[in-house]
Amino acid sequence: MASATQLIKAFSHLFFPEICYGCGTDLVNPDQILCLRCLNNLPYTNFQMYPGNPVEKIFWGRVPVQNATSLFYLTKGSVVERLLHQFKYKGRKEAGIYCGRLMGHAIRQMVSSNDIDALIPLPLFKAKEHQRGYNQSRLLCDGIAEIIHKPVWEGAIQRISATETQTHKNRIERWQNIKERFQLNESIQAVGKHVLLIDDVITTGATLEACASELLKAGDLKLSIFTLAYSSSRNV
Ligand SMILES: [Zn+2]
Repeated sequence: MASATQLIKAFSHLFFPEICYGCGTDLVNPDQILCLRCLNNLPYTNFQMYPGNPVEKIFWGRVPVQNATSLFYLTKGSVVERLLHQFKYKGRKEAGIYCGRLMGHAIRQMVSSNDIDALIPLPLFKAKEHQRGYNQSRLLCDGIAEIIHKPVWEGAIQRISATETQTHKNRIERWQNIKERFQLNESIQAVGKHVLLIDDVITTGATLEACASELLKAGDLKLSIFTLAYSSSRNV
């Protein structure tokens, strides 16, 4: 016999049907985010099983990382792009946590994933985070933590605004300089630890590289990078 909660859910579903974030069809199970069709067609990269994968290659010669990978390919108009849009711009935090859980399952397949000590979300500018109300990378970390049971070090690193004189730089250089500045929280105890830096999308890797370089100033630690999506095009 259906419980009162199930009956209330079924009743409210009649008027407020939960829809798939990927394709917009009615969800049979309102606790899900994606319908079975979208779930079965997610474009997994499986990069985590291949050392020397395209995401690791982005960092070669730039910053020493143990492993680097992305869960999905990102293409225009795809389910992954719609999921990202929901939790970055529409306030659907549950979509971010859901994606984080999928990342958590993949981390278990990563080489040397067993020795990961902490998750670090790529920070947003304070003003941006205030405007959005949350950091989407933090949502991913929360979902991952549910699966692999590791702490999230949100305050380990901050994104800072440029203060140095930039008059000699052109507009694009100035923006790059601001975008890629980070400051380590020197009180973090990261020596000897393996930290996993998390972000939503990787394209050129410039921002992640800058953040990773700053984190490595914390001392002798291992650093890996994991993003939800990998875009080989700068236009997505
Ligand atoms: Zn769907």
